[in-house]
Amino acid sequence: MYTNHIVVIGAGASGLMAAISAAGRLRETNSSTDVILLEHKERAGRKILQTGNGRCNLTNTYINPKCYQNDNTDFVMNILREFTPDNTIEFFNEIGVLTRIRSMSSKDGNSAAGYVYPHSDQASTVADSLIREAQRLGVVIIYEADVAGISAAGASGAAGLWEVSYNLNDELRSITASKVIIAAGSKASPKSGSDGSGYRLAKLLGHRIIRPLPALVQLESSCRLCKNIAGVRQDAAIRLESDSRVIAKARGEIQFTDYGCSGIPVFQVSRHAVRALSEGREVTACIDLLPDMTTEQISGFIRASAAHNSQSTLLDVIAGMLNMKLAKALLDSLGIKYRFAACNCNERDINVISHQIKAFRMQLTGYKSFENAQICIGGVSLEDVNGLTLESKLAHGIYFCGEILDVDGICGGYNLQWAWSSGHLAGIMAAQDQLRTERRNH
Ligand SMILES: Cc1cc2nc3c(=O)[nH]c(=O)nc-3n(C[C@H](O)[C@H](O)[C@H](O)COP(=O)(O)OP(=O)(O)OC[C@H]3O[C@@H](n4cnc5c(N)ncnc54)[C@H](O)[C@@H]3O)c2cc1C
Repeated sequence: MYTNHIVVIGAGASGLMAAISAAGRLRETNSSTDVILLEHKERAGRKILQTGNGRCNLTNTYINPKCYQNDNTDFVMNILREFTPDNTIEFFNEIGVLTRIRSMSSKDGNSAAGYVYPHSDQASTVADSLIREAQRLGVVIIYEADVAGISAAGASGAAGLWEVSYNLNDELRSITASKVIIAAGSKASPKSGSDGSGYRLAKLLGHRIIRPLPALVQLESSCRLCKNIAGVRQDAAIRLESDSRVIAKARGEIQFTDYGCSGIPVFQVSRHAVRALSEGREVTACIDLLPDMTTEQISGFIRASAAHNSQSTLLDVIAGMLNMKLAKALLDSLGIKYRFAACNCNERDINVISHQIKAFRMQLTGYKSFENAQICIGGVSLEDVNGLTLESKLAHGIYFCGEILDVDGICGGYNLQWAWSSGHLAGIMAAQDQLRTERRNH
């Protein structure tokens, strides 16, 4: 039915943005090309609805290369410069989404961070507005269309057209397209639709896939104290050590759970733990439970507190600084009895306790699965993609955007910003290329 069109695979954040940008550019020139968006779920933007605990942290006003952790941050930053967080805010305002900026305290180690949310505090505002904008620009969205393959159209593929085949209502159909934008996401949170099938499509066309692994994910530990401290939340600093090296660190509210630990700082360091563990390396989480105090200050506080009231037990004193469950677990881990009067505590024990507070160690044994992960590390190798256009270097007319690419950001709106920026660029570049072809053919 459709020939010679731009087909976008996946109506998530990046696919919707790519379709809108392509359709907008084509419209400026009265082009006859249609933009067709194929989505295998029954609605678009399902993952957007999950973001930011349902509030959608859609970008961040503070951005620098450290916000992206993959090997080629130049690639990422060049694309973000083409469509910046300011452009994102402008774009959303233009399509009717009022935004607001929430400044975060310096506790997260990122004092300039300005987390941007829709003013409605509802992720559905973002998803619905994108769908309406795509419809306004005439994008044809076909739901429940599960893309199964992409191949060169015609025997030789000489015309530079692609055959995109998809299953709809148990029937295999196809569209001939001059440009195909693959925006099928990763394997993270597969129930939202990103089930990893995009990797298979990319691989069919010869692209290398860097092994996808879950990231921004909870970490598991064999620490026998986990069950005792489950439910405790503590402002702390986490440092990951592997092969006697610090491989990542972050600060913020850590949540201790019966299986290990969670919370934003844990998510921030998770990609490093996941990679090391998946390579069979040992990883220890070293948690500083009082990051604003030195070991000496902690020892001084214990001494002063013990001297102040001779009736106070050692547990009373430590629980004066830390959550009670944590205080008990910490003393248990050291094998120190804590029911006796703290004033009888010897210097050696005070020292050991202070050091343990500064470096509470949990041996990491694993990480939660793709179902729990917010994003993936790995994906289509950036080496196979042109960093100026997001077109494949291997297959002319095939573009990539969003999380399917080997790009991962930290928490704070950076992954959606990548989806918007890369989706915008892929859409514009595919449309411009299409317009050039149209001009040549006339
Ligand atoms: C719980 C959670 C919270 C998050 N919170 C935030 C946040 O607050 N801020 C932030 O920046 N990031 C957040 N993220 C990450 C962010 O949502 C993603 O990075 C982003 O949505 C990726 O966009 P995408 O378009 O690349 O992929 P997706 O949004 O996953 O879209 C891919 C689309 O392709 C479709 N698809 C896949 N395969 C096929 C196929 N074969 N045929 C047809 N359609 C197909 C899928 O159904 C899906 O609709 C969060 C993620 C999760 C899971």
